[in-house]
Amino acid sequence: MNTSIGKFALAFLAALCVLFASCTKNVKQNSFGNVEGRLIDYGVTTEKKICLTFDDGPSLISETILDVLKEKNLKAAFFVIGKNAEKHPAVLKRMFDEGHTVGIHTYTHEYKRIYSSPEALKEDINRCFCAIKAVNCNYCPVYYRFPGGSFGLSEKLVSVPEEMGLIRVDWNASCRDSEIKPANEHELAEYARSTAKNKNNVILLMHDAADKRFTADALPEIISYLYSDGFSFVPLEKVIKIS
Ligand SMILES: [Zn+2]
Repeated sequence: MNTSIGKFALAFLAALCVLFASCTKNVKQNSFGNVEGRLIDYGVTTEKKICLTFDDGPSLISETILDVLKEKNLKAAFFVIGKNAEKHPAVLKRMFDEGHTVGIHTYTHEYKRIYSSPEALKEDINRCFCAIKAVNCNYCPVYYRFPGGSFGLSEKLVSVPEEMGLIRVDWNASCRDSEIKPANEHELAEYARSTAKNKNNVILLMHDAADKRFTADALPEIISYLYSDGFSFVPLEKVIKIS
């Protein structure tokens, strides 16, 4: 690499990370306080609310997902992989342009590497943050989803995103598209419906990945099932309990 370009790239990355430190500090101090990302149930509410979330994009199926969301006039949350953001910057830009929430998922999605220590996890989060900022420098991601969820991870790891000022988001319903192989769209729609049933505040896990095309195909059916079960579709901040 040309030395001056290399120096510029390093300076740019350093500037982004300083920016990360400053904007996450603001989140912690001004907007959210202590956050229980995993606790979703508001208890007494009778209104049925659901937020659609997609992990692992941007991908070759993102555009199909975005087309469905646009047609139905719905906003979702995308927890992106930094490496994929670098591969598909135009798709990530479309997510921003169409008003969806973009959260941090991981840079590599390599469990062994990112969960080897709190420092490794922090570095992975930082790299994903920088990949998102490279596409939209005006956007400050505040939501974070652990690859595989936070379930079963050590307290030291689980506390990392919160120490960085991020809001941890798990899920309480899933179309199970990462477990069922091969899946078909009706099966995924049934799982989304049955796991969301009897809950009032729902965060539904789905995936935005090239090997999960069935998820994009199932999306219209998932949405119509959930509508018929009385759910309204809301952005993430309407279902995350913030104490
Ligand atoms: Zn993932």
